[in-house]
Amino acid sequence: MSDQCIFCEIVHGNIPCAKIFEDDQVLAFLDIGPISPGHCLVIPKKHYARLEQCPADLAAALAARLGPIAQAVIAAVNAPGYNILNNNHPCAGQLVEHVHFHIIPRNPDDGLFGHWPAGKYPPGKMEQIQQKITDSLAL
Ligand code: 5GP
Ligand code: ZN
Repeated sequence: MSDQCIFCEIVHGNIPCAKIFEDDQVLAFLDIGPISPGHCLVIPKKHYARLEQCPADLAAALAARLGPIAQAVIAAVNAPGYNILNNNHPCAGQLVEHVHFHIIPRNPDDGLFGHWPAGKYPPGKMEQIQQKITDSLAL
């Protein structure tokens, strides 16, 4: 548990939540400020601030839950689609620094958000970045 972490408080039952799933490693509950009905959060019970800090077995447990929970969520709100969103760092929109995946039900023409504006690499830049990533990736 991390001090001052609202999601740790939820995990420990000190703050109520509308729980939809729980096992020994993972908790899922409805987001208190939904962007669409059924918007929920899937979190590890143990505190990690960022996804890359999660041990592999925990990341795998989280990933394994996302599809089945999303399927139940969209069925409940009668939505044909959904986004999975995982913000890491405040610069990426992370307000709560306890790893979480948003499941956001989507409907045609819901006006929420669409595709991002596609950029373009100058010649050689993509290969340069590719090389840097593969050089630093320790898997
Ligand atoms: P982030 O911007 O960090 O990716 O998203 C954090 C999410 O947590 C927000 O969508 C926000 O509405 C939700 N949230 C913050 N505090 C609480 C809370 O106390 N209970 C619930 N259920 N959701 C919360
Ligand atoms: Zn926490």
